[in-house]
Amino acid sequence: MQTESLFRSRIQIGNHSGLKSFQATCPKCSEPFNVLWPIGILWIPEHATVYLGCPYCGAPFLVVACDLLSAENSQLRSSEAYIP
Ligand SMILES: [Zn+2]
Repeated sequence: MQTESLFRSRIQIGNHSGLKSFQATCPKCSEPFNVLWPIGILWIPEHATVYLGCPYCGAPFLVVACDLLSAENSQLRSSEAYIP
């Protein structure tokens, strides 16, 4: 039986073309992690505020979407983004 995910790893930010995976870095413990997006979100503006919680130390913080780095590293932990 396959479990349906409520989150997606790839979205489009701003005018950049194509769906991509994004990473954030925790400002508190400096650990990078993958960002997961709510399944209903395919695109956000590049100035959107993204709320994140660090999967390592638990620190909550926010970033502007255009500051996220496009990268794919399945070794990293991931955390779900919240877009208000
Ligand atoms: Zn952290």
